[in-house]
Amino acid sequence: MEGNKRWVSGDLQHPDRDPNRRQLVAQQQEPFGAILSCIDSRVPPELLFDTGLGALYVMRTGGEAVGPVVTGSVEYGPMTSDTPLIVVLGHQRCGAVEAAYKSLRDDKPLPGNLQAIVKALQPAYEQAVREGGGDPVETMARAQVKLTAADLRSNQDLAPLVGKGALAVVGAYYSLDTGKVEVLAGAPS
Ligand SMILES: [Zn+2]
Repeated sequence: MEGNKRWVSGDLQHPDRDPNRRQLVAQQQEPFGAILSCIDSRVPPELLFDTGLGALYVMRTGGEAVGPVVTGSVEYGPMTSDTPLIVVLGHQRCGAVEAAYKSLRDDKPLPGNLQAIVKALQPAYEQAVREGGGDPVETMARAQVKLTAADLRSNQDLAPLVGKGALAVVGAYYSLDTGKVEVLAGAPS
């Protein structure tokens, strides 16, 4: 979050991006966080948190859609090397969420493998429909973050780590307009 403040203000440090750092982490890594974010070209985690080499595991899928391979990748750090933080990061004007919303609302499946993303986002769609609100796509994007973070927090592999205070699973939301990351749920106390 300190890095995101620098991103918002433009006062960037670009830490740990030089040959010394490359050599330091070449043999082993110890990232402090695992981030699941969207494929959107405007939401690269390393830039918007002003981090460098070896700081983050990064998983990116359309609309932060998950399936077994993605979930396994998110779990890798926390389960094998005590990574203490998972962040599910959604964002403003998410094209994947908007496309899934329209597909489900109009009952028009998307072509090919895109439909797998629609299916993965269906619970968020249903929650957005229940919640209502003026901007259903925005509501759905936030619901997707909260549901995905809650699922990770309570799954059988990660729940024990969360329970003993060794892992926090945070849901967060990125504003394209301001560059600011807002924590929605699960901030460690
Ligand atoms: Zn997106």
